[in-house]
Amino acid sequence: MTAKLLEGKVFAGQIKETVRQELTALKSEYGITPGLAVIIVGENPASRVYVANKHRSCEEIGIYSKVITLAEHTGKDELLAEIMRLNLDERIHGILVQLPLPDHMKNAEKEIMNSISPAKDVDGFHPVNVGKLAIGEESLVPCTPYGCIKMLELAGIEMNGKRAVVIGRSNIVGKPMFHLLLARNATVTVCHSRTHNLAEITSQADILVAAVGKPGFVTKDMVKSGAVVIDVGINRIAEKKLVGDVDFQAVKEVAGAITPVPGGVGLLTIAMLLHNTVKAAQMICKSSS
Ligand code: NAD
Repeated sequence: MTAKLLEGKVFAGQIKETVRQELTALKSEYGITPGLAVIIVGENPASRVYVANKHRSCEEIGIYSKVITLAEHTGKDELLAEIMRLNLDERIHGILVQLPLPDHMKNAEKEIMNSISPAKDVDGFHPVNVGKLAIGEESLVPCTPYGCIKMLELAGIEMNGKRAVVIGRSNIVGKPMFHLLLARNATVTVCHSRTHNLAEITSQADILVAAVGKPGFVTKDMVKSGAVVIDVGINRIAEKKLVGDVDFQAVKEVAGAITPVPGGVGLLTIAMLLHNTVKAAQMICKSSS
């Protein structure tokens, strides 16, 4: 069997089309253009590229984008004051602090992230949004796992009653992925670094999500014939070579559908950030009308 390729650009395009329609509706109904503010502290070159991509994507689609660049030596209080200003800024509906923060702010990361208003927390990392996701209330959902779910939905892949296995239990991918699959009535198992007999568990999965951060970690013998394999991993193995967590060449021979890396889930993360910014604007408008 050769698996169907789930290409990120196809689904990202569909999500962006819906975002465009919602932007038009927000303009005509409330007269607003949603705004996203991204704060970057310091000179991390990878972070600069990510922030530039987010800014470009917002501009392309018609979301107001504000990038706030703070010097490496910026203090915690200064950053918190900037976040407070943005929490109150009516032009801004989504706030994102680009991670990682400089070393001197590492200990304050939780306090900084939690100071973002939950209503504007387009990363979906605030405890209020994490809790709402866990109890099935409407919330802002972390972009990468949300993108995986949107991809499954748009590809018409049934989750109801299916056996899903997530490898990885991070707060930004594995745990929200668990809640999202559970909410769609999958029977979900979360595996992690202490899991015994991993291959035995993964080979029962109808839907297998890998979010480990180890190149080629998921091998052919770990995958059930016909399974849907979602590869969240992004691993740089050479200067210009990115690979996922799945041994793509071997696994595509047994899987029913598979996401490539690059060109898979990664493309959906920014699309979902745009979606979340519009959603935050919709929720803010509804609650104040
Ligand atoms: P993380 O390091 O926080 O978590 C990795 C998880 O893998 C942990 O929960 C750990 O228990 C598990 N793990 C490690 N070794 C294992 C083993 N031997 N067996 C089973 N489980 C094991 O990573 P993360 O932030 O969740 O990211 C995971 C991957 O996804 C990374 O490659 C990251 O770059 C990528 N990622 C991609 C996007 C995107 O936009 N596509 C976004 C976020 C993360």
